[in-house]
Amino acid sequence: MDSKKNKTKSGGSSKGINTVLAHAGYNPLDYHGFINPPVVRASTVLFPNTAVMSDRSSKYVYGTHGTPTSDALADLLSELEGAEGTILLPSGLAAVTIPMLAFAKSGDHVLVVDSCYGPTRRFCDSMLRDLDIEVEYFDPHIGSKISHLLKPNTSIILTETPGSNTFEMMDIPAICAAAKAVDAIVMLDNTWATPLYFKPLDHGVDISIHALTKYPAGHSDLVLGSASANKRTWERLREKQLTLGVLAAPDDCYLVYRGLKTMGIRLEHHRKNSLEVARWLKAHPAVSEVLHPGLEDDPGHALWKRDFSGSSGLFSFVLANINREQAHVFLDALKLFGLGYSWGGFESLAVLVNLDQRTIANRLQDKALIRLQIGLEDVADIIADLELGFAALAPSLAQN
Ligand SMILES: *Cc1c(COP(=O)(O)O)cnc(C)c1O
Repeated sequence: MDSKKNKTKSGGSSKGINTVLAHAGYNPLDYHGFINPPVVRASTVLFPNTAVMSDRSSKYVYGTHGTPTSDALADLLSELEGAEGTILLPSGLAAVTIPMLAFAKSGDHVLVVDSCYGPTRRFCDSMLRDLDIEVEYFDPHIGSKISHLLKPNTSIILTETPGSNTFEMMDIPAICAAAKAVDAIVMLDNTWATPLYFKPLDHGVDISIHALTKYPAGHSDLVLGSASANKRTWERLREKQLTLGVLAAPDDCYLVYRGLKTMGIRLEHHRKNSLEVARWLKAHPAVSEVLHPGLEDDPGHALWKRDFSGSSGLFSFVLANINREQAHVFLDALKLFGLGYSWGGFESLAVLVNLDQRTIANRLQDKALIRLQIGLEDVADIIADLELGFAALAPSLAQN
């Protein structure tokens, strides 16, 4: 990990990221010295008298507007992202959809990267189109050429780097520079890198989105999302969230706040394990391709190296000379890897990737493309488990 790239401004001094994770977001002296914030369950907040009730100076006014618990998490995320403010939402998907609803209106044109998270695409193709918003998908490798797609009514460019499942790196500063021509808002789904390995707002992005479900929660026991905004977008984002009444429950906020305290060391372990497994797969004769921007010969490596300070634990690979049907044999032979969606928890997971919805970044659509979430287990055991998968493929390879 490149520690120069992930210093965070904290209290005027530049502190290391693990120090920020340990100390930012909440001051223990605000609640009797207890190290962690209280879990505040709330609807009504009482005022001491009508004067205070009407002068609107109170920090807390009603449950939907935030509590000391949600503030601790939002403030920690804002500090990590270098954001003006952060809203918390009931899922990572809602953290994509609510900001889009906040900044797009009927008659607008929005640009969405073709390698976006699948359910993001479903939202764009159904709800945004129902609202008479024109949705256009673009190649993740587009870079500054995105200027050719911009229209006077382009209100949002939705990016994700690396792309879901296929891990294409995007030139985010080039896209942000181009977006200025029409004043479009650039949003980035930063779930893969977390603010520890990439800080979108420092590169010109307006809103950085997270599925907190993944590494921040880290234990596969909840779903939650966040959107961190810069000065330009914060007030509108906050106002629209309050208008819609979509918020995060206190227990989940608390668990994510707790998870973030150890995310630095967990992520470092995911990073190391994942690179080791990716390199091992790369050298395996039954693997034709490994999609991991942290690998030196990955097509996205130069961009990754320029902008990111680390790589996380999720990547994909292609089984050579194996069809999608036969890939099930590989997956079913795994014992340690769970077969399941989502990622970012402590345990390893595998899925066969489906790219059927894509129209541009679909080069590997017919391939046995497998996505791995590399967990915190001992890496020798992870590799031994993959060996079981390859061994099970032997009859299929003989037959092909
Ligand atoms: C998982 C994921 C989401 C959605 O998060 P949920 O909390 O499961 O709704 C959004 N974006 C990316 C890139 C994801 O991987």
